[in-house]
Amino acid sequence: MAEFSTPLMRQYSAIKQEHPQALLFFRLGDFYELFFEDALLASRELQITLTSRNKEKGEPIPMCGVPYHAAEGYIARLVRKGFRVAVCDQMEDPRFAKKLVKREVTRVVSPGTSIHAEALEPRANNYLAAAVERRGALGLAYVDLSTGEFRATEFSSADADARFQEEIGRMQASEILLPASENTADGQGARGGLQAPHMPALIGAPLDSSGPPVETRLDEWIFQEEYAGRLLRDHFRVTTLAGFGLEERPLAVAAAGAILHYVRETQRSSLQHLDGIRYYQQHDTLVLDPATLRNLEVIEPAPGGSRDSTLLGALDHCMTPFGARAFKQRLLRPFCRREELEGRWDAVGELYVSTIAREELRRTLGKIQDLERLLGKIALESAHARDLLALKLSLAQLPAVRSILEKFQAPMFRSLGESLDDLADVRQWLESAIHPEPPVTLIEGNLIRPGYNSELDTLRELSQNSKRVMAQMEVRERQRTGIQSLKIRFNNIFGYSIEVSKPNLALVPPDYERKQTLANAERYVTPELQELEARILDAEEKSQSLERELFIEVRRKVGGEARRIRQTAATLAELDVLACFAWNAVDGGYVRPEISEDGEWVVVQGRHPVIERHGAQDQLASFIPNDLYLNSSTDRILIITGPNMGGKSTYLRQTALISLMAQAGMYVPAERAKLPLVDRIFTRIGASDNLAQGRSTFMVEMTEAASILNTATAQSLVLLDEVGRGTATFDGLAIAWAVVEHLQSQTLARTLFATHYHELTELANLLPGVRNYHVSVKESGSNIIFLRKVESGSA
Ligand code: ADP
Repeated sequence: MAEFSTPLMRQYSAIKQEHPQALLFFRLGDFYELFFEDALLASRELQITLTSRNKEKGEPIPMCGVPYHAAEGYIARLVRKGFRVAVCDQMEDPRFAKKLVKREVTRVVSPGTSIHAEALEPRANNYLAAAVERRGALGLAYVDLSTGEFRATEFSSADADARFQEEIGRMQASEILLPASENTADGQGARGGLQAPHMPALIGAPLDSSGPPVETRLDEWIFQEEYAGRLLRDHFRVTTLAGFGLEERPLAVAAAGAILHYVRETQRSSLQHLDGIRYYQQHDTLVLDPATLRNLEVIEPAPGGSRDSTLLGALDHCMTPFGARAFKQRLLRPFCRREELEGRWDAVGELYVSTIAREELRRTLGKIQDLERLLGKIALESAHARDLLALKLSLAQLPAVRSILEKFQAPMFRSLGESLDDLADVRQWLESAIHPEPPVTLIEGNLIRPGYNSELDTLRELSQNSKRVMAQMEVRERQRTGIQSLKIRFNNIFGYSIEVSKPNLALVPPDYERKQTLANAERYVTPELQELEARILDAEEKSQSLERELFIEVRRKVGGEARRIRQTAATLAELDVLACFAWNAVDGGYVRPEISEDGEWVVVQGRHPVIERHGAQDQLASFIPNDLYLNSSTDRILIITGPNMGGKSTYLRQTALISLMAQAGMYVPAERAKLPLVDRIFTRIGASDNLAQGRSTFMVEMTEAASILNTATAQSLVLLDEVGRGTATFDGLAIAWAVVEHLQSQTLARTLFATHYHELTELANLLPGVRNYHVSVKESGSNIIFLRKVESGSA
């Protein structure tokens, strides 16, 4: 950087050097200014005017700025685009600064640490992840700083890399921390063997419409288990991490420690809401790999589609943002154990029939604001009085929620009732402390309710009194001087003064001291006025700073109850999700699923939950339901043939979606559904246009098919749609044939295979467990009418 002629620019340069990776927002008076390359970039990205500084003397410096009160919006926009912003504030009041105002970076905002509402999607989490690899085993951790959710896992099996990539794919982190190790020739990290895992190419990935996570490199020592473990233990105030399931999980600890290190560095706050971490394993839940999530349009629509065409879009009718986030997580991580499901279905069933109580519950939940994120702001010390007021009003609904809960019988409601904390103490603090109509800032006063603190009340009284005395003085001075238009005025620069208009100047008494001359008036002060003024200003200043102190104290105290508030938010989220499941069930005519223990699948009159809601593309007629039968002996693999547009893909997808919905705890679109719990759902769609990414369709199909054959188990559901289509007929047929044979003889997964290769129907004659089905059509003259009925036998 060039030599700087001014102390200010030297200060800027020194601070910028500490944050070379970030755009530096440099507070100058009422603006945050950016300089040099930062200014060029910000003016382009934010569409704000580029100006320059130092025009007269030498080289002009490019500069642009945003008003400080609007800065959050601009920061959020930059962060959403993947940039990092360092916010440099004035650390002393410029009015009192002797020399150059002291400035420091008070926070660094990055995509994974942004908590401002404008940078966050209300109904989605914003994850910051960290990953580390050692000798083929991987550790992964992630946090949502805005809500306090913090989890970690490890992958150490032979296929750790593939499992890691799946997890990254469904997590949708916006930023990932990786060790900046110098990899040696053998691929091992330089010291301790720690290195950055190979990150999947997420281009075209299913979930992430905003692109892959921003990668942030941290020094390798930050990931060392010893350091990371100590950091975590200190933060959670525990002597061992065993309570979190992190014992003997060095790589999970390393990744989690790096996250904690990073958020501490960037946030400078207590992080009270990070009150624990949970170790999990991928196979604790139904695993949906990225390709499957994409093919089934669970979260993100297919290219060109809208949110309505996704399962999430069709079914998320949650009343709260935190409920909606839980709903989304439920779709991404459905259950796979009976204990987790039966109780939920019972609860949904009760909500299903209790129309009035259900709607009352939903209405009450609708009055609750984003508790998790309010708490996040409180813990991150960015909550102002209106946030605490919002918290108070939200918590005020808790007794109502509890009394609605008491109307229900299902055991799930009882246990939810137990974990619902009324937080009466927190409500009481907020009620007594927070002013009912606070301003948006922390400096104007009116944060604290009268009566909360006697010292504050005295100070307020003092300034009120002095103002009354001053009003009396005005009346008295009018009488004394005979100037009827005499006024005592206040002005920010000169303070209080007695104003006398020009025609009355002759009447001004000798003890008035002239202070300021205006066009048609003079302003004076008297010793009495000055004394009163000093009393008022002093009291106001004291009361404002006392208010701020008291406010911060209350905020800390509330933050200290983070664990209870988070647990209550989680309980409400669960209730919201259950009520939403019930609402969908009523609205869509869904049925409670039954779990099959013997591997038999029976779906009677099953429907596609999204298409039946939003109508089929090519016709307005209603959706045609179809049955399904599978078992673990004679009907394991269904080969489904029929013309293009016949309804094959829809049938495959609805089967997967019914299974996914059931395991998420929902009722399902069918007249009856008896299903085994699956461990994974795979879907592969042939001829997908991966050519743009430089891999031939043939290669893609081979690798994808291989990954299914290697991973699927007898408890998996496999959907293959036109696999083998993208190649010359013979190759394609050969792949398809080999895949079916392998699934039939080795994998034993339940499989639906839609194909236009009529030759494959031969397999039913050769292999036990393979069945032929077809989608029916009717010829009427020269037209084909699609009946969309799936029937036994080949087409
Ligand atoms: P295929 O895979 O056989 O080419 P698709 O499953 O893609 O056919 O279905 C073609 C069209 O038919 C889609 O627009 C879909 O919405 C509609 N469709 C499919 N199944 C049904 C059904 N059961 N009832 C009504 N419309 C359907």
